[in-house]
Amino acid sequence: RAKLLGKGQYHVFDPTLHDAALKVLQLETDLRRSLERQELRLHYQPIISLKTGKVVGFEALVRWLHPQQGLISPMAFIPIAEETGFIRAIDLWGLHEACGQLKQWQAQLAQNHDEYLRCDPQQLTVSVNLSARLFADANLVWEIDRVLDATQMNPQNLKLEITESAIMNHPQAAKEIMEKLRDRQIQLCIDDFGTGYSSLSYLHHFPVDTLKIDRSFVSRLTSSPHNLGLVPTIIKIAQTMNLRAIAEGIETAEQLFQLQQLNCELGQGYFFSRPLESQQATIFLTTPAV
Ligand code: C2E
Ligand code: MG
Ligand code: MG
Ligand code: MG
Repeated sequence: RAKLLGKGQYHVFDPTLHDAALKVLQLETDLRRSLERQELRLHYQPIISLKTGKVVGFEALVRWLHPQQGLISPMAFIPIAEETGFIRAIDLWGLHEACGQLKQWQAQLAQNHDEYLRCDPQQLTVSVNLSARLFADANLVWEIDRVLDATQMNPQNLKLEITESAIMNHPQAAKEIMEKLRDRQIQLCIDDFGTGYSSLSYLHHFPVDTLKIDRSFVSRLTSSPHNLGLVPTIIKIAQTMNLRAIAEGIETAEQLFQLQQLNCELGQGYFFSRPLESQQATIFLTTPAV
């Protein structure tokens, strides 16, 4: 299979590698057609106020319903989409879809009595993940304006999630985009906070509203208050800078308890709910928390 070339180098001809490359290529081709074939879906994970238990919004998470392979997770196709540039089309589709869904929830829920609702429909937000690539795109703000216009969405109900590296790849372009988004009262959230860029000083220079504490930190929370890792620090940073904090990946009652002790404002995770299809999400909104 592998022929020794000397100096420890191998000339590799591995048929399984060849198969893997072909699979990626096929996935790439399929992905390009996924939008027109309407194979992409958004699932919605509730974001909960850790004080009141109410739903403040949903994070929209894309899934691909592949005709042969079934439901494919974004971890498996977002990297391919980023490499090919197709991520732009996916993210703009997702933005449009999520804004349309939020408007639909607001219209549906307006007919319910408040006491049966687990949210305030007019305050409900939808969070959309944007890839780094889109965040350096000069046309992004124009595209967002188009979506807001088409869906008649109130910009205050839209949150955009971006990573630290998306900002730091092109800080000047990102800053200009973020200021335009802030002018429109769109909220900006730093996703996976604490895992990327190591300096905090950048935070001062960008109009950010929310820090999302990465799941890796939340999952390490134990029942012992002496072993809370970075979470207390991140919450304190948020408080000091007048930002909101969301804990992602809350899976246990102990984790929730510790976060409440630390005055973390918002959270999401399997403990409350997995990401849901839109109809299930509607049911979640109309089922009072016990
Ligand atoms: P993310 O934005 O950090 O999203 C959170 C991920 O954690 C989601 O995975 C969610 O399903 C998962 N999660 C939530 N609660 C829990 C929990 O309690 N335990 C565990 N183990 N996991 C939890 P998902 O849906 O597979 O998405 C993965 C990543 O793909 C996202 O991470 C985001 O970076 C990216 N992504 C998803 N949708 C989009 C999109 O429309 N556009 C772009 N550009 N990226 C997206
Ligand atoms: Mg996210
Ligand atoms: Mg995240
Ligand atoms: Mg994460």
